[in-house]
Amino acid sequence: MTTNPNSPSADELKQNDLAHHWHPFTDHSELDDKTLRLITHANGSYIWDSNGNKILDGMAGLWCVNVGYGRSEIVDAVTKQMSELPYYNTFFKSTHQPVAELAEKIASLTPGDLNHVFFTGSGSDANDTVLRLVRTYWGHKGKKDKTIIIARKNAYHGSTMAGVSLGGMSGMHDQGAPLIPDIAHIKQPYWFHEGGDMSPDEFGLECARDLEKKIDELGEDRVAAFIAEPVQGAGGVIIPPETYWPEIMRICKERDILFVADEVITGFGRLGEWFGSQHFGLQPDVIAMAKGLSSGYLPIGAVAFSDEISNTLQKGEFAHGYTYSGHPACCAAALANLKIIEEEKLIERVKNHTAGYFAEKWASLGEHPLVGEARSIGLVGALEMVPEKPKRSKFKNEGDTGAICRDHCFNNGLVMRAVRDTMIVSPPLIITDNEIDEMVEKAWKSLDQTHASIGVK
Ligand SMILES: *Cc1c(COP(=O)(O)O)cnc(C)c1O
Repeated sequence: MTTNPNSPSADELKQNDLAHHWHPFTDHSELDDKTLRLITHANGSYIWDSNGNKILDGMAGLWCVNVGYGRSEIVDAVTKQMSELPYYNTFFKSTHQPVAELAEKIASLTPGDLNHVFFTGSGSDANDTVLRLVRTYWGHKGKKDKTIIIARKNAYHGSTMAGVSLGGMSGMHDQGAPLIPDIAHIKQPYWFHEGGDMSPDEFGLECARDLEKKIDELGEDRVAAFIAEPVQGAGGVIIPPETYWPEIMRICKERDILFVADEVITGFGRLGEWFGSQHFGLQPDVIAMAKGLSSGYLPIGAVAFSDEISNTLQKGEFAHGYTYSGHPACCAAALANLKIIEEEKLIERVKNHTAGYFAEKWASLGEHPLVGEARSIGLVGALEMVPEKPKRSKFKNEGDTGAICRDHCFNNGLVMRAVRDTMIVSPPLIITDNEIDEMVEKAWKSLDQTHASIGVK
């Protein structure tokens, strides 16, 4: 990295930040010049901070830098696009090359006949679009009462009003309420902490049938859609039992409702397929995507939907759009990113090699005395820290142990995220076997230190 002698020092930047920058998902009472991290540059699977620490990014940024950092192909494509056409809108019958190409590309990658793509600026925006789209769809079908969307507790669908309302995070629901009406939440398939005495398979069926119960309770003529992440991400990498998705698909087929897959994390190779739906054999009517679409190089999201929905929406103008829907530079970044994924066969590599290697190494962390379960699928993993192995119990002050472990990880040169007392990772798809070894070694060391910090025998 080259440093400009005129650029402000790290200390100055931190002071400016602390004085003026309000951070997302941050308790500002805990933010000071010691806890604030200044990230300076990145390459491959690593980031560097202003103290010169090289840190293995076990979270690929925020689940998004699938092709890794430092990809000049994306930078070049964006630079070229910025000089040719930095911006034009896609409203009112206009288009441009990168958006037309990207729409075709996404349509070719999605399962089934999801041949129509609406562009957004992010995953949250994509779910706002989903909400308006499915309700508008049923309105056009003459079923104006079909407005309720069923989602799941502890789901994450973003941070806008629609994202929060669809999401099932009670802490978020409390802020900015009242929420958007006509959204209902059913059980999440979180066997480790909610499965009780049931086997995972029994529990998976029970959770899926909660959808059927909810539809009956509300009335099928009131329900527009069911929305779910194939694997819950921010909720704690919750991998449903094997019985779950087939039963959900049965219910969605029998009932006259749309199925929306929120693939913002599971899209673009995370589970070893282009979309997580393909991994589980799901056929959604609508897919929301973002993150891995551009590997985070520029902000872009999208909603892909079926021929049937597209045909129905032709009944009138869909009065919806964002100034940056299909932004040329963001589309160029996404196209260059998808090209890398294809040319380097990153998805095949995850499916045929990396996921298996990761699964084996990650599982070894399950032997640690603090870890009640080490689970993974594709390139996402979770560690359930528990006070008393082998019980699937919780710590008294939920979240404290996770926060301690996360800090140890950072100090050991590893980004691992804490969700309550569950540690999670979602590394770049390009991660090497050696880097996986390093991640697991650093995780083990951090768990040891956490164990010592909390004083559990
Ligand atoms: C991150 C995420 C979102 C929100 O995306 P943003 O780009 O942060 O708005 C929505 N759904 C899921 C599943 C996510 O992981």
